[in-house]
Order: sequence, then C-alpha cells, then structure tokens
Amino acid sequence: RSKAKIIEAERPTTRFADIAGYEGVKQEVSEIVDFLRNPGRYAAAGAKGPRGVIMVGPPGTGKTLLARAVAGEASVPFLSVTGSAFVEMFVGVGASRVRDLFTEARDRAPSIIFIDEIDAVGSRRGIGGFGGHDEREQTLNQLLAEMDGFDQSSGIVVLAATNRPEALDAALLRPGRFDRQVAIPLPNQAERAAILAVHTADKHLAPDVDLDRLARGTPGFSGADLANVVNEGAINAVRANRTTITAADLGAARDRVLLGRRETSNALL
Ligand code: ATP
Repeated sequence: RSKAKIIEAERPTTRFADIAGYEGVKQEVSEIVDFLRNPGRYAAAGAKGPRGVIMVGPPGTGKTLLARAVAGEASVPFLSVTGSAFVEMFVGVGASRVRDLFTEARDRAPSIIFIDEIDAVGSRRGIGGFGGHDEREQTLNQLLAEMDGFDQSSGIVVLAATNRPEALDAALLRPGRFDRQVAIPLPNQAERAAILAVHTADKHLAPDVDLDRLARGTPGFSGADLANVVNEGAINAVRANRTTITAADLGAARDRVLLGRRETSNALL
C-alpha cells in the first residue's frame, strides 16, 4: 500500500458551528485551537501546551467531526490515520509509518495528527498478541517514542479517538502523552433536535415536520444515526417524486435506521 493511502493530509473547512450541541466539549478543545494559532506564545511563557488528547465516546458521536473542526478553526493541516491501518500492514511497517506520520506533521507544523481507533494500536501490551512478532507492540512503542520526542514549540497536537478507553495501555496516558481525555457521549434530546436542525438546514421540510418530536422519538441515536435518518428521509421523498420531506418520510427513515441498529447489535451478540 502507498503511504498516501494510509496518511491523509488535508485542510478541513469544518468549524465548531457545524457541530450541533456539545458546547462544553467545544469549550474544552478551544484551548487546542488557541495553542495551534500561536504556539510561540506558550513557549515564550514557558507553558506546556496540549500535546495529546483522547476523545472517548460511542461510535458516530462526532469525534472525527470535532477533530476536523479543531483543525478548521485553527486553520492548520490535518493528518489523519486509522489505528487499524497501522497494524494491518506488513511486519515492521507500522512503526515506520508512525515515524512518517510525525515527520510529516513536523514539516507542516503547526498541525494536527488525528488517530482514529487508537485502541487498535494502543491496547494494553501483552493482551491479544500479534502472531510471533508483536507488530502492534512495535508500533505502539514507536508512537510512545514520537510523543515523547516532539518539540512542543513547533505546535503539533495529537488527537485520538476511541470507544474502548479501558483497553488502552497505561503508558499512552502518562503525562506528556495523551494526558487529557474529552468525553463525547451520545446526544441528549435537545442535542438531537439541534443535530437534526443542522442536517435539515439545507433541505425543504413540509409544515408537518416537527424536529423536537423526532428528537423525542430517537433516544439512543448518535449524531451519525440522525444524519442517516435525515438522508433516508430525503431519499423517501425522492422515491415519491417530491423535493419536500414530510414527517412520514422521516418517520419511516427513523424506523429503518432503528432496525439497522438492532440488526447490527444482534450481530455482535
Ligand atoms: P466513529 O467513532 O464511528 O468514527 P465518530 O464519533 O468519529 O464516529 P463522526 O464520523 O465524526 O463520528 O460522525 C459521523 C457523522 O455524524 C458526522 O459526519 C456528522 O454528519 C454527524 N454528526 C455526529 N455528531 C454530530 C453533531 N454533534 N452535529 C452535527 N452532525 C453530527
């Protein structure tokens, strides 16, 4: 596989305004934005800026979206990788990819590194070994070395996401590494209504659509599920040769997404 496929570099245009709800979370990560906009100011005061932050929450709650918004707000490059992509590779390659990733981040600093599914590389060592050579362990050790090695005045922040924080190796969580955690829980009812509003803002809704009511009827749905409901609702409208989405379109979409979620969770049992 080519390096380009593993490490994606981009300049996201995502902003905090694209994320509905989660005001407290945005507040928490705004310090990272501040640091990336002017890392020199921290260095001048002898202050240590944020280095590694782990976002913890169930799938689809917008962790990737939030990481991109931090990059967008700070207007810095965003280098993203998925933990599983590191460990799926040939022996010895994972560690060198980690090295490449940090080299690239340094070249483009200030910048953000985003590691999705960090538990794939960072679970406690010694459990779930990786064949004869412990590829994952080598990759993790390289990641730890890079986290310790980078000069903070350059302005690199590593954001990582997981839904299995308990599986993470304690070494990753030590001071100077991923020493901050931000919880990203499922949205509450008011947040669900806000997420639905964001995703329907550019669509035509029939007068019978009541987003508060839909929010009440979607407990346990993630932001990704809600985005899915809106999209399926729009597809239902297209099928009926309409450009306006009705309450019935969204209701049918909600049931469909709910069924999909049940099927996935049954499959996991
Ligand atoms: P995973 O853990 O599965 O990688 P994630 O937490 O990274 O999921 P994202 O991929 O960021 O979730 O979110 C999926 C999609 O859900 C987003 O692209 C967005 O469309 C929608 N979404 C999630 N949360 C919100 C939110 N708070 N406001 C608006 N849209 C949201």
